[in-house]
Amino acid sequence: MLPPPEPGNRPKDSVMAAGPQFNEPLENPALSLIMDELEAGEAAVELDDKEPQEVLAWAIDRFGKELAICCSFQADGCALIDMAHKIDPNIRVFTIDTGRMPQETHALIDKYRQRYGIKVEIFMPDTDVVQQMVTKHGNNLFYKDVNLRLLCCQVRKVLPLRRALMNYGAWVTGLRRDQWATRSNIRKIEIDHDHGGIVKLAPLADWTETEVWDYIRANGVPYNALYDKGYQSIGCAPCTRAVGEGQDGRAGRWWWETGAPKECGMHCAIETGGFEHELAALLGDDDGGHTKP
Ligand code: SF4
Repeated sequence: MLPPPEPGNRPKDSVMAAGPQFNEPLENPALSLIMDELEAGEAAVELDDKEPQEVLAWAIDRFGKELAICCSFQADGCALIDMAHKIDPNIRVFTIDTGRMPQETHALIDKYRQRYGIKVEIFMPDTDVVQQMVTKHGNNLFYKDVNLRLLCCQVRKVLPLRRALMNYGAWVTGLRRDQWATRSNIRKIEIDHDHGGIVKLAPLADWTETEVWDYIRANGVPYNALYDKGYQSIGCAPCTRAVGEGQDGRAGRWWWETGAPKECGMHCAIETGGFEHELAALLGDDDGGHTKP
């Protein structure tokens, strides 16, 4: 199995933007050899009716230390950590700390470190880029305009994720098909062409929210305290709020926006033509990331 890049070789966001443009798929030929499209397609068919624990056991066996769970410490990711930890106590877990997460999420991460004895690998946004962004647009730029919200998500989430994934050959997500229209067709395993051709897994793809919570309660899995205050989907503190009974779970994310996708760009590329030039300028790529060198 191929080793991941040395931590010291991890590029900064601005350097990554100078290599492949920030909005172009990464190319990582070494890691892309970990699985090809044919094998991934066959595995997707084979795993589609398997329980999440079976998918995780298969992935742990297939990818070993190349595998990591990407967890934002929402209910889905918490259930996955518990399942995976029962299979392999050394399972790797990483998170993107945007710098705007609720205190409840930080408290939960500490709880996981203690209860499971895992080292949560934390990736943060590039300080220089955040500094430029908030100096120019303010700390709460996301309330002003959808494109500024997407700019903030790119800087605080999408670019750090791209950098994080340079360290792994396969990543596990908590995505479910019933979460949002853009997620209705996700496979339990696929090649992630946006991130260098590594493998992306969604063991909970065909589970419902109810099944996730049944698992959490049956197994005493620690969960974010905000769920007990009416939250159903938890992201950054200023962009998430509780929702009413019967409302869609993601209605509490970016609730002030109308007609915009309830996505940040981590799991599906977003292009509006509105934030790309601003992001390119912040990264020192003044052509907007649209022309190749
Ligand atoms: Fe920024 Fe809000 Fe996106 Fe977090 S969710 S990265 S604070 S816009």
